[in-house]
Amino acid sequence: MSRALLDDTIAAISTPLGEGGIGIVRLSGPRAVEIVDRVFRSPKGISLKDVPSHTLHYGLIIDPATGTRVDEVLVSVMRAPRTYTREDVVEINCHGGIVPLRRVLELVLKQGARAAAPGEFTERAFLNGRISIDQAEAVLDIIRAKTDLGLELSLERLEGRFSRPIKKIRAKLLGLLAGIEVGIDFPDYEEEALPREELIRDLENARRQVEYLLKHGRDGRIIREGLQVAIVGRPNVGKSTLLNALLQENRAIVTPVPGTTRDRIEEWVELEGVPFKLIDTAGVRQVQEDVERIGVELALKAAEGADLVLLMLDLGAPLTSEDRAIAARLRGKRTVLLLNKLDLGRNFTAEEALRALRIEPEAVLEISAEFGEGLEELKGKLIGLVWEGRLEPREDIFLLNIRERDLLQRAGEALKEVLANVREGATLDLLAVGLEEALEILGELTGENLSEEVIERIFSDFCVGK
Ligand code: GDP
Repeated sequence: MSRALLDDTIAAISTPLGEGGIGIVRLSGPRAVEIVDRVFRSPKGISLKDVPSHTLHYGLIIDPATGTRVDEVLVSVMRAPRTYTREDVVEINCHGGIVPLRRVLELVLKQGARAAAPGEFTERAFLNGRISIDQAEAVLDIIRAKTDLGLELSLERLEGRFSRPIKKIRAKLLGLLAGIEVGIDFPDYEEEALPREELIRDLENARRQVEYLLKHGRDGRIIREGLQVAIVGRPNVGKSTLLNALLQENRAIVTPVPGTTRDRIEEWVELEGVPFKLIDTAGVRQVQEDVERIGVELALKAAEGADLVLLMLDLGAPLTSEDRAIAARLRGKRTVLLLNKLDLGRNFTAEEALRALRIEPEAVLEISAEFGEGLEELKGKLIGLVWEGRLEPREDIFLLNIRERDLLQRAGEALKEVLANVREGATLDLLAVGLEEALEILGELTGENLSEEVIERIFSDFCVGK
């Protein structure tokens, strides 16, 4: 979506969040007055559509869906062209603090406004000829002084855990779009280029991922825990080797939590944006004592409270009583069985291991931690369990603002529509259009389809609402 498009109506909270009880939700665009009018109730029965420009009106914001009262407000109506953006501008002065402020914004978005991109109000002022680029930059400087921290936080979010999964989804969808385009150009190869089954599966996956992000994203919450995965097994099966192999490519940047126990190693990896805390007991080496007992106790400790256990066996040697003892104590835990050291050949088969250990894992994977074999499958399995909803993070793990939420919601809806179209056997052209739309919306989230033009760069530095 080109941000220079001026025919839609944008909205944002245009006062700094968390400061004071009063805040303003600002709308700009051709439908600003109409949209606010739908949620505004004046005690005098006034319709905002009839009021003169540059006037202020007292009333209530009501959720039209439920009839509930959201906040007591003062609404100012300013019609084009004598406004900040030279478009119709409506400002809703809310009194109830941050929660109603957000609800009011959500309500106007529901009525058809679009969440403003950072700096978009000022960008419109510039595009409509009201201010020069120098003036715009001056505004930017003032804003920046106040919001450095916020910017930093949002940049971190944009570059990090949130945008990575979106980029992945986009890449997948771009692949599908390419396939569809081949099908359009060479109808004879359509099935070959992109079997419908595959298309549906990949679209479903993308939609699920978008929903996952929405479900586990909350604004303003601190990220604490990801999914806890304990790597468990007797000594020397290759637990630390696996941990290190996974860390090499996927180490997550996290702030260490003080008070971590010394008898285990905890490291964070990030797969498709989802943080996993890997817990390994290999940091502790047994003294002479009863090796079996200690092995079991360590395993149990690591598995305690873990969302998932990776139970590791050594294919290079026969199963031992220790393997069985550990497995016995893990019964009932969600488990993935890893048969490591595949490079040394198989001393037992997966079936034999399952029978001997009497466990029912989510999956059995043969890997070679040392040589990196099977690690992609393992990562795919881990993230797959998350997307399928079988592994649920206990805390919200993404920071989303209202604009991001709005875009994600739209992306999800666009994908749903494409899916429905695929199922109804729609033409490839129609599918391509739908996919492009989803791609554009997701691109808004990662900034990938913003051009490198100076103007856009400058305006993207603004905070939302200005
Ligand atoms: P831990 O005690 O379970 O943490 O085991 P380590 O990760 O320390 O590994 C024990 C030994 O097994 C080390 O010498 C590793 O190099 C070796 N090892 C780990 N994974 C593999 C593998 O996939 N293949 C082979 N051949 N050796 C491995």
